[in-house]
Amino acid sequence: MGFFRCMNQFCASGPHGKLGHDFEGAVPVCPKCASDARLPRYAHLIQQLETIHYDPPDPKVFGMGQGILACRPDFHWTEPGRDRRAYHVSGVKEAVNCPVCKASPLFLADEPDREATKPPVGDLTNGPPLESIPEQFRDVELRVQQTREGPALVKAS
Ligand SMILES: [Zn+2]
Ligand SMILES: [Zn+2]
Repeated sequence: MGFFRCMNQFCASGPHGKLGHDFEGAVPVCPKCASDARLPRYAHLIQQLETIHYDPPDPKVFGMGQGILACRPDFHWTEPGRDRRAYHVSGVKEAVNCPVCKASPLFLADEPDREATKPPVGDLTNGPPLESIPEQFRDVELRVQQTREGPALVKAS
């Protein structure tokens, strides 16, 4: 069983839709145009896809995932010592193709309000307001301000 994408232009969902046609199968044969990647004549049309798991969005930090796989919620793929390159994850549901992830309660649950977790946008000349930056990243922001404005403007925390 594998995930594949047929790049025959006539298999795309529409002229303005996503390129290619994604399908799952035991053999790399497009169900729409019958291109068979095992035959050299058609091999260039079919791409093998990685399994993309769902990493649900972090409820607090905008743009971050929780570091888990929805199909294995007890497994922290970002834990130190793990080879992160071995895991293909996305927080964008449309990009996920793992069938177990797609059937999981985490995948089916409503996403947190992403707008609510965005830091407030105001005058960003000197970076976002310090209060809007999560505690664990504040020292990083101070260094950025240091290089930009010189040590005199660095706020003592
Ligand atoms: Zn096709
Ligand atoms: Zn998965």
